[in-house]
Amino acid sequence: MYDLVIIGSGPAGLSAAVYAKRAGLNMIIIEKNPVSGGQIIDTYEVDNYLGIPGVNGFDLGMKFREHADKLGAEFVDATVTGVECVDKGSDTKAPVYKVVTDNGEFETHTVILATGAHHSKLQIPGEEEFIGKGVSYCATCDGAFYRGKVTAVNGGGDVAVEDAIFLSRFCSKVYLIHRRDELRATKILQEELFGLDNIEVIWDSVVKEIKGEDKVTHLVVENVKNKETNNLDVDGIFVAIGIVPSTDLFENLIDCDEKGYVIASEDGATSAPGIFVAGDSRKKRLRQIVTAVADGANAVTSVQDFLVGKEK
Ligand SMILES: Cc1cc2nc3c(=O)[nH]c(=O)nc-3n(C[C@H](O)[C@H](O)[C@H](O)COP(=O)(O)OP(=O)(O)OC[C@H]3O[C@@H](n4cnc5c(N)ncnc54)[C@H](O)[C@@H]3O)c2cc1C
Repeated sequence: MYDLVIIGSGPAGLSAAVYAKRAGLNMIIIEKNPVSGGQIIDTYEVDNYLGIPGVNGFDLGMKFREHADKLGAEFVDATVTGVECVDKGSDTKAPVYKVVTDNGEFETHTVILATGAHHSKLQIPGEEEFIGKGVSYCATCDGAFYRGKVTAVNGGGDVAVEDAIFLSRFCSKVYLIHRRDELRATKILQEELFGLDNIEVIWDSVVKEIKGEDKVTHLVVENVKNKETNNLDVDGIFVAIGIVPSTDLFENLIDCDEKGYVIASEDGATSAPGIFVAGDSRKKRLRQIVTAVADGANAVTSVQDFLVGKEK
């Protein structure tokens, strides 16, 4: 029986692990990926995390993990498939939850959900068929395979613009396809993008279909204003249209909003007593590393407060 099970070892989960170990809680942290660090391990540069400008995302993830390891946090390699309430507890008695995974079950008095988020899909014909054969969701991971080739990035936010800039270093040509006539990305990224000769922005357009034989050869692109469609020859497409929370497993246990983000108060407490949330999977304004690590620390403080005076 644990005091705390943390699900997910991205920035939020790792920060929670550091605070929980220092607080002397009997805890484990469960991660489904072979590598900790969450979404940041796929980004080539993080330039807004205080005190470590221009750090590689993977390296930052490894630093976070090393910190938790150094304090003796126990990691379990497993995918959580559900959380069940065994005993609701009371004002004087701690609840009991069973965390079910593909590598065993774990009983605990409290849980911190730090499962973060994952990439949205376009949900168009050809997308599933060509994943790994020209369709990618991670420019940092797959960009180098497209050296000297023509690629497209779909999206208009920071990640899409960063991806296009990154790909321009390898590819002969990069198209940035965006459904509107202006980008959402920060100005500093836009300035860099517009200064690169081998990037062309295709405005007011959406990808309707991804086509090819063994691998991607072209995209069917529609102009949303005049409804004209054109074939765009590319060797690959990088989809960067946003993220969705990884919370579907918990929707029956705790309250989530219409997009699936967990509803929680300032202290990370969810609608189920003893279950707390931290990081990108919670409803909040800004989803970044700095807010995820803050949430992780905050959630552990809430766990400690919650367990005070409760019989275990
Ligand atoms: C390409 C990209 C670039 C970014 N750049 C920046 C940046 O420059 N600066 C910045 O501040 N932020 C950046 N972000 C955002 C930042 O990465 C996130 O805000 C942050 O990673 C959120 O941390 P998290 O721990 O909440 O979730 P995540 O990082 O999503 O981690 C969640 C973890 O939970 C695990 N998990 C999920 N479900 C389960 C399950 N069922 N069982 C077990 N484990 C599970 C996942 O494998 C993952 O390791 C970027 C994001 C992306 C995608």
